[in-house]
Amino acid sequence: MIISETELKDILIKNHLVDESTWEEIQKEAKRLNIHPLDLMFSRRWLDKDYFGNILSEYLGVKRANLRFISINPSVLRLVPEQIAIQKKVIPVDIEGDTLSLAMANPRDFETINLVSNITGKKIEPLFAFEDEIQRALINYQALYREKYQQLLTKDVQVFEKAFLTEEEERISATRIVDNLLNYAMGLNASDIHIEIFADYSLVRFRIDGVLREIMRLPKNLHPSLIARIKILSQLQLDEHFRPQDGRFKTKLGDFEFDIRVSIVPTMYGEKAVLRLLASTFRPTSLAELGMNEKAQKLMEAAMEKTYGMILSTGPTGSGKTTTLYTILQLLNRPEVNICTIEDPIEYELERVNQIQVNPKVDLTFASGLRALLRQDPNIIMVGEIRDFETADIAIQAALTGHLILSTLHTNDAPTAVPRLIDLGVPKYLVASTLVLVMAQRLVRKICLNCIFTEEIKPYQEEMIKDQLYRSGWSKEQIENFQSPRYIYKGRGCEYCGYSGYKGRTGIFEMFFVDDEIADYLSRKEFNLVEFKDLLRNKGFKTMFEDGFEKVVAGITTLEEVLRVIKE
Ligand SMILES: [Zn+2]
Repeated sequence: MIISETELKDILIKNHLVDESTWEEIQKEAKRLNIHPLDLMFSRRWLDKDYFGNILSEYLGVKRANLRFISINPSVLRLVPEQIAIQKKVIPVDIEGDTLSLAMANPRDFETINLVSNITGKKIEPLFAFEDEIQRALINYQALYREKYQQLLTKDVQVFEKAFLTEEEERISATRIVDNLLNYAMGLNASDIHIEIFADYSLVRFRIDGVLREIMRLPKNLHPSLIARIKILSQLQLDEHFRPQDGRFKTKLGDFEFDIRVSIVPTMYGEKAVLRLLASTFRPTSLAELGMNEKAQKLMEAAMEKTYGMILSTGPTGSGKTTTLYTILQLLNRPEVNICTIEDPIEYELERVNQIQVNPKVDLTFASGLRALLRQDPNIIMVGEIRDFETADIAIQAALTGHLILSTLHTNDAPTAVPRLIDLGVPKYLVASTLVLVMAQRLVRKICLNCIFTEEIKPYQEEMIKDQLYRSGWSKEQIENFQSPRYIYKGRGCEYCGYSGYKGRTGIFEMFFVDDEIADYLSRKEFNLVEFKDLLRNKGFKTMFEDGFEKVVAGITTLEEVLRVIKE
């Protein structure tokens, strides 16, 4: 942060935004969560970020940069190299005559002002913007990337069109192509790279915001060299072409380190490689940032106060359930608690947490790992997944004996987690006495803020909404009285969102807290899912669709997107 906590406190008090005692509490809580007091205040919505941004700019004696909807002219962007922008937390915004206005996370950083002035040969007018605003504005560089990487890649690809190619030329070009593809993918925030071969060409696709997009087609004869390069990077056997292989390696983009997980499988025309890109350190987030509304946050916070019991997160692969559990662990991560995990795979490294990787080769399974961890005096344990009776049984015993257990289950919705546990062989009364909270979630793409527009709702869309509300448990009468919004939002598609109309993702959730009444129901009666859902509904349970629909009305995502992920 650019100002000290004392300065911050002075500004807040002078502007009547906090008083002494509130400030002390904020400081205490921020320290516990290991985050900056300002981030705490923003994430809990105790302080409006935009409003405070103006106050802070005034205090710093500079203008406030409005980066929210801005698309920066490429000719201005090219003046400041992206590496400098990332490292120094600045972004050029506009140029007028001889003066370049530069949004800066720290407008007092005169060294950087001089540096950028030397690079560009312009006078610099510093503007203030928060670090995350600058980070978001860095997507402006993506349009430049596309140009740059397409050019770089084309140059090396052309080498393979020559009639005679030395081994050395082939190796050097393949190395450069793989490096450029990796940088390109990291720059676009892609989560996976697919390189596969067909009868006539080799195809490269990136998964961005959960959707695969074609990036380029390459000449077929280039494919084996790319696969070979990837095998070398991830220390796999070069001469093995008929068996699947898994490996990993690390790479860097600026200051960010990435873990790349590699999977290679034989397909009809040759080997296919899938590279999964994972940032190696977990970026701490809040429940609000995951997409939970206030009610969901309150339920989750109540569950997190428990010292024993079980919190379950459900959903298919790629629904964001692991990220949610990591966030909860991060929030619970205090020096005085012992947190252990048994995972497959370990997706991020967490500070002060003992993380164990499942390894079938040495018989280290979720069940045996969990049993071993229980002898390590843990308070909180995350078990990657419960999928058999043995794991469920140990987890339940642990939850009964003073441990808070976090885990995931493969069910489509939250209520179904109960019959799933019963099916696994857990006695119903034990489910009742250990479950604390069950949630289900999906990830939806967010509408691109650069090209968002409103559209009148169509009759068929209204019908789809009513159909989903009916499935959510609304009565006929409630549906008849339902007031549909007149307008909904969409993204038109622009160069910053790759013409998809979407940028980034957020979660939609459903969850229930097991209170006395629910525990009583679970322990007493023969379990009936329909009846159970009715009971939850009477207690105010909202389905994922209802949560998603709220986000549609708020212009965060589209109706199509919510329906798409719910049907997955
Ligand atoms: Zn857009």
